[in-house]
Amino acid sequence: MKQTIHKEIQSAGHKVYGQVNRMWPDELPILEKIEAERAYKRLINKFGSKKIRYYDKWINRKLKVYRIRKRGTKTWKTEVRKCWLSLNGDTNSLSKGWRRLVHDVSHYVYDFRFPNSRDHNIAQAKIEQEMAQFVIDSGWLEGKLKPIIKQPLTKDEKKSKKLLNYEKLLKKWESKMSLANTKVKIYKRRIKNLK
Ligand SMILES: [Zn+2]
Repeated sequence: MKQTIHKEIQSAGHKVYGQVNRMWPDELPILEKIEAERAYKRLINKFGSKKIRYYDKWINRKLKVYRIRKRGTKTWKTEVRKCWLSLNGDTNSLSKGWRRLVHDVSHYVYDFRFPNSRDHNIAQAKIEQEMAQFVIDSGWLEGKLKPIIKQPLTKDEKKSKKLLNYEKLLKKWESKMSLANTKVKIYKRRIKNLK
């Protein structure tokens, strides 16, 4: 049976969605709020740009993250959707967690790059595929975006940190002193020669 072009494009899109779904590991980790926020910002930064014609030259346009006003304050915060987080442990369904975040952000990027076009199609699927690959390659599923929790320094560590710093400063001033000595000699000699 001959397919219409529309059908062909649709089924090509479905094929890519299938590939994207199979790219993800079977068990996805829980996505915390700080990770979701960082992932969202970095994906927008990486994928959300396009060239547009401005008079006689091409300029770069960048997509911005959505920000919302914190209630009762004058500060703004990045909007992190609840469905991106997998707080209830549901990490593997399409509607939650990493899969949902990448799907949603690929829509934002797609709508920005190709305004007024159809919502789900092969181009959108391809962007989603690239993004999923980027997330996986960047090690974000292994926790690369988790904040590093700094352990407080022990007494000995504090001491050796101070020591290192003092030694560095000493070296710096010793070398200034030796330079000063050289200069003093030079000018003493020049004065003597003139007299
Ligand atoms: Zn969608």
